[in-house]
Amino acid sequence: MQRRTFIATISALTVAAFDPTRRSWLTAAEAAYPQAIPVPELDGELTVDPEALAEAADDFGHIVSRAPIAVLRPASVKDIVKLVKYANRNGLKVAMRGQGHSTYGQAQVAGGIVIDSRTLAAIHEIEDDRVTVDAGVTWNALLAATLARDLTPPVLTDYLDLSIGGTLSVGGIGGATHRKGVQVDNALALDVVTGDGRLVQCSGRRNRALFEAVLGGLGQYGIIVGATLALERAKKNARVYRLYYADLDQYVADQTFLAEDARFDYLEGQVLPNGAGGFQYMVEAAVWFSPASRRSAPDDASLLADLSFDTSSIEDLTYDGWLRRLEPTVAFLQQIGVWAFPHPWIDLLVPASEAADVARLALASVSPDTQDPMLFYPFPRRKLTRPLFMVPDEPVIFLFDILRTAPPIPGVADSLVQLNRSIYDAAAALGAKKYPISSIPFAVSDWQAHYGPQWAKVQALKQAFDRNHTLTPGQGIFA
Ligand SMILES: Cc1cc2nc3c(=O)[nH]c(=O)nc-3n(C[C@H](O)[C@H](O)[C@H](O)COP(=O)(O)OP(=O)(O)OC[C@H]3O[C@@H](n4cnc5c(N)ncnc54)[C@H](O)[C@@H]3O)c2cc1C
Repeated sequence: MQRRTFIATISALTVAAFDPTRRSWLTAAEAAYPQAIPVPELDGELTVDPEALAEAADDFGHIVSRAPIAVLRPASVKDIVKLVKYANRNGLKVAMRGQGHSTYGQAQVAGGIVIDSRTLAAIHEIEDDRVTVDAGVTWNALLAATLARDLTPPVLTDYLDLSIGGTLSVGGIGGATHRKGVQVDNALALDVVTGDGRLVQCSGRRNRALFEAVLGGLGQYGIIVGATLALERAKKNARVYRLYYADLDQYVADQTFLAEDARFDYLEGQVLPNGAGGFQYMVEAAVWFSPASRRSAPDDASLLADLSFDTSSIEDLTYDGWLRRLEPTVAFLQQIGVWAFPHPWIDLLVPASEAADVARLALASVSPDTQDPMLFYPFPRRKLTRPLFMVPDEPVIFLFDILRTAPPIPGVADSLVQLNRSIYDAAAALGAKKYPISSIPFAVSDWQAHYGPQWAKVQALKQAFDRNHTLTPGQGIFA
């Protein structure tokens, strides 16, 4: 085999050495060349399989594509430690990829190495109040394992096929957030491989600076390889209340009240087409209950008291059925191919005082017969405990998302990304922050504004834990 037979022509190959002059891989046969830097012995594999490279150069957004030069499929935490050290020595960039459900290249690495966390996905000990997992476990798998023991994670995202490491890196907002914070608030301890290749255990008591840096840290300071997460007892059923409003200001006022009042176990909400050329607004709230318990029948009258909705509906489901409610829709979208279309999402965190105005300005560009889901719901800031999960400085914050699907026509997704940016600019002037799962282009100066007074701290953390800037360049925070 010729020395120049590199990754472009090799199929399904585990590489043996790196050629730093050409910045490409060598096969086992070529590893004896003087310039070859052998790949450390791994339990898993470092592959240049074109399919693996193509998958790692893509994500749920299908908008940006940056090709890595290899993908690590780790079989142990040691593999990740070795790979990160190796990357540091050879000036390579690395990012962990969970389920690849980012929308704008956040887990991609041009010319670097993507670590696929799906091969590190064991659920370890489940106790009554906590569970220890590998970072590649999905919330879906975790929920199935815990519900078998009548336990549940306190906060779950709407869609469950996301990796635990992936959502702990961004925040993890869900219907229980108004009561229990985001998912990063419910992480008790982590195992982290820092950007310079140290394996460190951290928690609120131990190596706290790293713990707080990594939770909502967008993969910048360390790779989460394992986590201990809070669990609580699960109820059997969910009673779901859907409250419809024609008036946006009334909706925002009632939602703000509900976020603080916390009478529901679950509180979300959406903007929906009203069928008459405009929009309506829906509180989607739930309480959990078990038949035979003292709270067997939720008290509808007191749950709906003091609210000014126009119409309502009430539905009983199992707790599991409610949490998995999106599965049939996702299966259908996958079946008809729409799930694979571009997703130029905009996701904003908005101060309650400006929530109605931000909604108005964003909705001005949305067709009133859109089929894109638009989430719009609040949570109190005091429930958030992790310093790098950046939100506006107000007691109540609204999540506002337009979960766009674009037709796969050249230019359409890009123009929606530009629209996202102009909505972001107007919303940021009103105090909004980007939820960094979005497709909103950000320059370093935007990140600086995003972190505000924390920017110096963010730079110091990068220096402390990833001084060679090895980790997660796809977020674009440090140029
Ligand atoms: C259909 C759908 C529904 C969603 N619903 C919600 C929701 O209800 N609430 C919500 O908050 N979000 C939601 N999201 C957004 C989701 O939480 C983020 O996109 C999340 O990052 C996806 O997890 P992932 O495993 O796919 O991560 P990836 O997209 O693979 O990675 C995300 C980022 O985290 C980094 N990363 C991944 N794993 C690790 C790790 N172990 N250690 C360090 N860094 C890591 C990556 O490098 C990247 O920068 C949804 C997304 C989709 C597509």
